Amino acid sequence: MVREALFYEELNDNTIRCTLCPHRCVLEDGKKGICGVRMNRGGVLYTLNYGELTSIAMDPIEKKPLFHFYPGTEILSISTWGCNMKCKFCQNWEISQQRPAVRRVDPERIVRIAMEHGSKFIAYTYNEPIVWFEFVLDTSRLAAKEGIRNVLITNGFIEPEPLKLLLQTIHAVNIDLKGFNEEFYRKECLGELEAVKRSIEMVYEAGVHLEITTLIVPNGNDNVNELEEEFKWIASIDPDIPLHISRYFPNYKYTEPPTPKEKLISIYERAREHLNFVYIGNLWDEKYENTYCPDCGELLIRRVGYDVELVGIDEEGRCKRCERKILKHL
Ligand code: SF4
Ligand code: SF4
Repeated sequence: MVREALFYEELNDNTIRCTLCPHRCVLEDGKKGICGVRMNRGGVLYTLNYGELTSIAMDPIEKKPLFHFYPGTEILSISTWGCNMKCKFCQNWEISQQRPAVRRVDPERIVRIAMEHGSKFIAYTYNEPIVWFEFVLDTSRLAAKEGIRNVLITNGFIEPEPLKLLLQTIHAVNIDLKGFNEEFYRKECLGELEAVKRSIEMVYEAGVHLEITTLIVPNGNDNVNELEEEFKWIASIDPDIPLHISRYFPNYKYTEPPTPKEKLISIYERAREHLNFVYIGNLWDEKYENTYCPDCGELLIRRVGYDVELVGIDEEGRCKRCERKILKHL
């Protein structure tokens, strides 16, 4: 579906500049931006993927991943197509870098589906929700009116003004922080580290629940000393921000073998020196997925795959043994 886009400015001779993400594409009449889903037609910027769904499913909230936001619940998860970054290792490249088959829906239908399935949550995920900004905004506004909480799974590569607007109806965010190396960001992902750091700070300052994911890409962003700078930086915001270190598998244009288990564990251990809640994703080892109290060591949440058991948390999200606050949304 084609809709006029938000966030652009007119230049001259029907040329416009999109101001949604830090690429700030300057588009002559008839041209699309780097994301491939925003187009100048006659001096007006249009979004080309409004309501064009590529998937819709009920998922465990842990799959997003979100480990400290209503653990053990299910969330309606939707995606469209397109992305403003071009990661060579993209795990969802069929929908982020190509135009796939779609099903057309409107925001009212998505909210109705969530309610029919008893889901109190909607996740905007799989491909980059920033490039279906208008659909996310419309749907999240409607959903919030119905008491549904909105979750954004994003690369965080967005300009401050649109992010500020979106955060008014978003309740939780997981941002992909693709390491701590500007060159890696530019060469392997076509993004910018500093812009993503700014988004992380904005989400935190807005009081929106925040978790961070870093996919460990062999011979890409896996230098432990460099990653330690990332861990220190996150800790300087808040050492309680959950960090998901995720195992890479070969995909799209990146052919290195999967991240070795020992590498992930050494990175995990370095991260734990600075952060209170660190998890390893795609390793399927309970030890690295459980939540333990950072103060008294009590097992709080046991995770085996997507089976989740709240064993040591009280109704206010505190450790039952020492009363340390763990789940801050409660
Ligand atoms: S959202 Fe798309 S068109 Fe707009 S600046 Fe980013 S890449 Fe360019
Ligand atoms: S930001 Fe995410 S969806 Fe976009 S190309 Fe990178 S990995 Fe794929």
